[in-house]
Amino acid sequence: MRGIMADATGSAPRLEEVRNRIAAAAKAAGRQPEDVRLVAVSKTFEAPDIIPVIEAGQRCFGENRVQEAMRKWPELKARYGGLELHLIGPLQTNKAADAVAFFDAIQSVDRPKLAEILAREMTKQNRRRSLYIQVNTGDESQKAGVSIADCDRFIRSCLETLKLPVVGLMCIPPVGADPSPHFRLLADIAKRHGLRRLSMGMSSDYEPAIACGATDVRVGSAIFGSR
Ligand SMILES: *Cc1c(COP(=O)(O)O)cnc(C)c1O
Repeated sequence: MRGIMADATGSAPRLEEVRNRIAAAAKAAGRQPEDVRLVAVSKTFEAPDIIPVIEAGQRCFGENRVQEAMRKWPELKARYGGLELHLIGPLQTNKAADAVAFFDAIQSVDRPKLAEILAREMTKQNRRRSLYIQVNTGDESQKAGVSIADCDRFIRSCLETLKLPVVGLMCIPPVGADPSPHFRLLADIAKRHGLRRLSMGMSSDYEPAIACGATDVRVGSAIFGSR
């Protein structure tokens, strides 16, 4: 299993390298390194792999499944202060209540039904979570995210009708495509809605994402190793 196979001693230096590369990419783009948040994607990894990364100072983590996160993180949250968890994977409506209870941010809001349920749950639980709307910038049929054609209307309804605390947008460009046009498209959509945060860029493309304005990069394998 992961905890035994993975090289736990390697993740701290890899984290350091990712941090340095984020800072360099930010400076190259004329931006401040602090303006780019690293979301360390710990999906499929267990506590023995995650702890060295926390102990190296990382506090913001991304998980793609509600149940996996709820199994792994309570103990870590009890042991370490200041942790912030982002849900970055698709969210089913029947897990929305758990997601609102457990995550500090939900980056995968992508359809009206889910938006309505999140609005209701946040009211019911008296919790406001930072939300990102996921846009399917490649209009890929198998991929989560609101389509390009529907995104303006959906974003407006989240902000104006549901009054959701939407802070930004998220995208995952198609595999094998040049990601930069997708990043620029996401930045344009965010700009016309006055949204400040852009969650874009993963292990293979966080540097071009930062050049295009990413405020949140979601990096997994470059820190934790291959899954
Ligand atoms: C797994 C995942 C990542 C991290 O991917 P890496 O290539 O390992 O950096 C980022 N975003 C989402 C939505 C993911 O599911």
